[in-house]
This record gives sequence, structure tokens and C-alpha cells, in this order.
Amino acid sequence: MFLEGKRALVTGSTSGIGLAIARELAAEGAQVTLNGFGDEGEIAKLCEELGATHSGADLTDVAQVEAMMADAGEIDILVNNAGVQHVSPVEDFPVDKWNLIIALNLTAAFHTTRLAVPGMKAKGWGRIINTASAHSKVASPFKSAYNASKHGIAGFTKTIALELAEHGITANCISPGYVWTPLIEGQIPDTMKARGLTRDEVINDVLLVKQATKKFVQPEEVGAIAAFLCRDEAQNVNGANWSIDGGWTAE
Ligand code: NAD
Repeated sequence: MFLEGKRALVTGSTSGIGLAIARELAAEGAQVTLNGFGDEGEIAKLCEELGATHSGADLTDVAQVEAMMADAGEIDILVNNAGVQHVSPVEDFPVDKWNLIIALNLTAAFHTTRLAVPGMKAKGWGRIINTASAHSKVASPFKSAYNASKHGIAGFTKTIALELAEHGITANCISPGYVWTPLIEGQIPDTMKARGLTRDEVINDVLLVKQATKKFVQPEEVGAIAAFLCRDEAQNVNGANWSIDGGWTAE
């Protein structure tokens, strides 16, 4: 258990990819703080299963991010994973959705990072892992805010990777293609509407069309990469944007 004695905070970890990352880190001995929304009873069960604590902070509110970071104490591993999506033509894109997506998918990671870095620097060790997306490298129509936020987090990650490199801290993105989680399920109806397609057509002709393996990525596969990035053997993996997209962005 190579993460014994390390403290990890995984944002957006009550569901999907974040939960899979939290499970991997806890399995390697990390003391994990979960974050995200959901049913209180289910979150309590998760905390028991993983020996974790939970913060219900809404990361679009800076004051709540600051309170979460103060409660979590010194963090060795910061995983910025919380994210939302909205699918709409740009001229109809709801302004509140644009603001929400940029606030959660991009700005929240700036706040958690600026608050976690002093403790990491003091210890001379740290790992910052940002869940970006294939949409941090390429675009798809009708996802203007999401694509902007994910290209933004990729640029942010490269910047802090350079700034923090000599302090034993690495910063990397993991960029999944389509992973079957509630986030994907939730965008199917809007994609049907935006493109005039059936549910099956959205799954096969939109979601999986560029994923050369024709398979959804599994959340645990993303968790395994996150755990690897925390290893000492990964100390020179810095500023990378690691694709796990079945070959989508190889094209
Ligand atoms: P999900 O919907 O399963 O989980 C999202 C998590 O974020 C949940 O825990 C939710 O409670 C939390 N959350 C939502 N709003 C929040 C807020 N305001 N404050 C704090 N937490 C909040 O989604 P997922 O598919 O696991 O996505 C996780 C990350 O992976 C996102 O950044 C997403 O963009 C990225 N991603 C997902 C896919 C995919 O295909 N599912 C692909 C590429 C990248």
C-alpha cells in the first residue's frame, strides 16, 4: 500500500470517475476526503467503505471551497475531478449554464490548487491530477462551455506543472473519452434534441463513433492511471495530458 500516510482530496467523488479514483487511492492506503452531492445515506456508506470523510461543498462557491480545504488539512494528493456538462447550440446556450461549467470545471481547480500548494511545497511532495477530457484536445459541436473549460484546465495544468516542478510536485491531466457515468446518461436527451437523433443513434453514431475501440472507458481504468501518477516512479510524468479514449484523439 504505497499511499499509506498520504492524504488525498478527490472532488466530485460521490459518483462516476471521481468515486473510482477515490476507491483506487483508498485501496493503496490513502486517507481520502470525498466531495460531491448525493443521497446522505449512500455517502455515509461510501465513507465507511473507504474509511473516508466527506465534504458536501459546492465548488462553484469560493467560500465553500475555502472551508473544505481548511477542514481537509494538508493534502498530499489533489484530484480536481468535479465537472458538469450541457449540450446546446451556442446561440441558445443558457448563460447560467456557461457560468456554472466554467466555475466548476475550471475555476474550482484554481482555488483548490492555490490552497493546496503551500502544504505540498512545505513537504516537498505533491500530486495534482486533473480530470480533463478528450475535449481538452479536440472539440465536438454543441459543447462550447465544456470544451472551453477542458481546454482551459489543460493549459492550467501545464502552467502549474512548470511552476511546481522543482518542489517534488507533479501536475497532470487524465483525458478520458466517453466513460459510462451519470454525466453521459444526462446529456443523451439534449444531444438527441440538438442533432435530431434517436437514443441508439446518439450512443453509436455520436458517442462511440470516434472511440476506435467502440467501447466505453470504465471508471476503474481512469482510477488506475490516477494511482500510477501518485507513484514515485511517476515523478517525471509532469505536465502530461494522458489520453484514455480508445484512440479517439489519435486520429
Ligand atoms: P458524474 O456526474 O458521475 O460525477 C460528477 C461528480 O461531481 C459528482 O460527484 C457530483 O456530485 C459532483 N458535483 C457536481 N456539481 C458539483 C458542485 N457544484 N460542487 C461539487 N461537486 C459537484 O460525472 P463523471 O462522468 O464521473 O465526470 C467526472 C469528471 O470526468 C468531470 O470533470 C467530467 O467532465 C470528466 N469526464 C467525464 C467523461 C465521461 O464520459 N463521463 C469523459 C471525459 C471527462
